[in-house]
Amino acid sequence: MIDVRRDFPQLRRRIKGKPLVYLDSAATSLKPRQVIKKEQEYYTRYCANVFRGIYRTSEEATEEFENARTKVAAFIGAKESSEVIFTRNTSESINLVASSMKKTDEVVVTIMEHHSNFVPWQQLAKLKVWKLGEDGRLDIGELETLITRKTRLLAITAVSNVLGTISPIRHICRIVKKINPNCLVLVDAAQAAPHMKINVQDWGVDFVAFSSHKMLGPTGVGVLWGRRELLEQLPPYQYGGEMIKEVHVDRTIFADLPHKFEAGTPHIAGVIGLGAAVDYLQFLGMGAVRKHEIEITDYALNALKSVKGVTMYGPPHSKDRGGVIAFTLKGIHAHDIAQLLDEDNVCIRAGHHCAMPLHEYLKIPATARASFYVYTTRQDIDALVIGLEKIKKIFQ
Ligand code: PMP
Repeated sequence: MIDVRRDFPQLRRRIKGKPLVYLDSAATSLKPRQVIKKEQEYYTRYCANVFRGIYRTSEEATEEFENARTKVAAFIGAKESSEVIFTRNTSESINLVASSMKKTDEVVVTIMEHHSNFVPWQQLAKLKVWKLGEDGRLDIGELETLITRKTRLLAITAVSNVLGTISPIRHICRIVKKINPNCLVLVDAAQAAPHMKINVQDWGVDFVAFSSHKMLGPTGVGVLWGRRELLEQLPPYQYGGEMIKEVHVDRTIFADLPHKFEAGTPHIAGVIGLGAAVDYLQFLGMGAVRKHEIEITDYALNALKSVKGVTMYGPPHSKDRGGVIAFTLKGIHAHDIAQLLDEDNVCIRAGHHCAMPLHEYLKIPATARASFYVYTTRQDIDALVIGLEKIKKIFQ
């Protein structure tokens, strides 16, 4: 892939004379100048509310906003852009769907879900939990014992934010629908959409949620994609301005999709910025993005293997995983690792990564996690390894 680092202004920042080694892209990605510029363009050229004004600036803002929706729809292979709902983040997208479910609904989740795709369902009923097979992969055979004629929904992550495990969504969805054609499938694509080509129709699923901020876009914007006929059946999530067609003292007629789910003024600059992020990723090509991820993950898996005392979690081969590696270092707490690496400006994450059920299941209190993206280099991984060796000496 072409060298993209010059597009990321934050990578030029030095702290105490040291370069930034950013290995926390699974939490949020850095932003390229093209996205920053586009957001700024809204604030400096056509700042106005969307859908309301009949003056040119507002029309310009509305056009840019809706262009972003069209770009997102094309990016994920949606049939039509009105199936793309803008929310605040992945969490809100999932909550939107969960809010329409009944307390009695039977929901199946995997043990490796982020709390975003676990807690909302847990509020409904007792969850049925799909455990992991060998190497942190799902045992597809188990699905047949979990999904019943009564199951209302399967909530599953496309890529685990801890193990990196890539779930074969298309295959899983086919099995689910064969057992129970009425069972809905919701995919948490927060760690997939930024890193690989996804196609919601090809997957055959019903809902897909992801966040702008993990795919080079601004914070404060999320996406919920849903099949039109299902979105039409769902009640609105929030009520207020812009989500109505008519309001009378005794009744309200709601707006059509997607506006029915977008009450109030949206994060206009953020959505327009997300459009620029999609342009940027399309320019790189999602095939190239994924290729780089496999290469860098492969390099990191081998490099970390050489550090004595390191245990890594998740599938052993880079082709089966996304660009995250959770690991422990014998005798040293993950928080100490992250804190000491920070002294050399190496940023990694430590803790349960919003996946406490998974950590309980694996019987580990915390892991350290390094995660990669388009700007990650082998030198970044080398800096991590050097840092870990240094930490081991301190704790000797
Ligand atoms: N799901 C996964 C797999 C994630 O990695 C994250 C973010 N760490 C989320 C959901 C939640 O995303 P957000 O905080 O943007 O709602």
